[in-house]
Amino acid sequence: MTKITVAKGDGIGPEIMDATLKIIMAAGAEIEIEEIEVGEKVYLAGNTAGIAKDSWDIIRRNKVFLKAPITTPQGGGYKSLNVTTRKFLGLYSNVRPCMSLSPFVKTKHPEMDIVIVRENEEDLYAGIEHQQTDEVVQCLKLISRPGCEKIVRYAFEYAKQYGRKKVTCFTKDNIMKQTDGLFHQVFDEIAKEYPEIENEHWIIDIGAAKMADTPEIFDVIVMPNLYGDVLSDVAAQIAGSVGLAGSANIGETCAMFEAIHGSAPRRAGQNLANPSGLLEGAVMMLNHIGQTKIAEKVQNAWLKTIEDGIHTYDIFKEGVSKQKVGTSEFADAVIANLEKVPSILKSVSYANSSALNLPKYVRKTLAKKELVGVDIFVHWAGLNPDELAEKVQKLNRSEASLSMITNRGIKVWPEGFEETFCTDHWRCRFKPNDGATITKSIIIQLLNEAMEQNIDTIKTENLYTFNGKSGYSLGQGQ
Ligand code: NAD
Repeated sequence: MTKITVAKGDGIGPEIMDATLKIIMAAGAEIEIEEIEVGEKVYLAGNTAGIAKDSWDIIRRNKVFLKAPITTPQGGGYKSLNVTTRKFLGLYSNVRPCMSLSPFVKTKHPEMDIVIVRENEEDLYAGIEHQQTDEVVQCLKLISRPGCEKIVRYAFEYAKQYGRKKVTCFTKDNIMKQTDGLFHQVFDEIAKEYPEIENEHWIIDIGAAKMADTPEIFDVIVMPNLYGDVLSDVAAQIAGSVGLAGSANIGETCAMFEAIHGSAPRRAGQNLANPSGLLEGAVMMLNHIGQTKIAEKVQNAWLKTIEDGIHTYDIFKEGVSKQKVGTSEFADAVIANLEKVPSILKSVSYANSSALNLPKYVRKTLAKKELVGVDIFVHWAGLNPDELAEKVQKLNRSEASLSMITNRGIKVWPEGFEETFCTDHWRCRFKPNDGATITKSIIIQLLNEAMEQNIDTIKTENLYTFNGKSGYSLGQGQ
């Protein structure tokens, strides 16, 4: 018996949760349910996180959380409960299987059967944003080695466990050589440990285009957070409907399972909604807690029901579907099929499933880190980079001097192009003079001098090498 936390959520949430629980209990799931309230009511009662403290205690104690969609009220100040839950609980892996159910659910891609494994905690979703000048705001893209190792290993372990043949990595490392470059590098390192699984890397733009056009050439696809967020919805939609896909959010100790769609408030309370997305989340949950026989039974009964043409309104199609049903009738039809398997759709077998082998991240030996320069960012409303260079060169000292100015990454001094558009946000790179070294105290001297000269410095980034390898990007055009 496994105790799980359940939140029925908002909109169509309670109906699809009731249907899902009814099906898995009828299949013999050995679970005990502890219910909590999250979402709209909690938000509107003045809790901007949408969840009370004692609910956190329950989620952390039970470790397994089945969550229906919630409504995030319009207007500022309300934090996304999903993002908070994923990060608080360290749910680093978001797994979204997207499989077509052709010919029973209409899709342009009848052969599609892919699993998107999305990194779930970092990247631009760290949410660290600042306005630095009148014209420029920034969002920090943070990619960590543990983050990459954990998600890439998860993708390969998942592929191994579920008999998948290939893991593909999508990044944009031709542009983001440090951040996406690290993700790609870790992918190549870990892929070597799984010689039996094919591996490949695609630049995300052409990879995404290919996935939308010919998804059947992909199997498991692993990618950083933002790309995964966008592409997993695309994948679910082209497989047939976002209403059919479930998602697992897995961490080292806790896990959360849900549908990928929202609370569809306009459909609420009418016994119309398709419970399949949440049911697919629940099947992943049953596998996760080791109740693989029950998971298999539910999944095959669900496939059989879809195959029987018993469809909710969202996938109902005259000529293909046989019977249009509501949420609860759909659940009853799945229950009636519990001992059956589909005959045209491929039935599933989770017989050999066991827990994924996911060792804890071990910190590597520290690299030799050397300070080799500094980027000083300046807010300046002028237009001519030569004029700025003249001002900033006043900071030059015997140890370090201005070597380059960029604007939005492109080099504008020395030898910039007058065609280059410039904002009020300038990066001034200081490098040590020949034979000299730069230290933190020299950086402070540079900043002090900038203050004396009325130069508006907005931030600095130290330039390092790690074991002699450059840890920063060159200016574009440098
Ligand atoms: P939505 O997914 O709720 O609805 C999009 C469309 O899909 C609607 O036409 C809806 O009727 C249909 N649909 C969705 N699920 C369906 C189902 N199970 N059966 C039949 N039809 C279904 O997206 P939205 O309208 O943009 O968002 C509504 C609310 O849901 C918002 O408050 C949003 O913040 C929230 N939301 C929550 C989650 C979550 O909790 N995981 C995810 C996405 C959106």
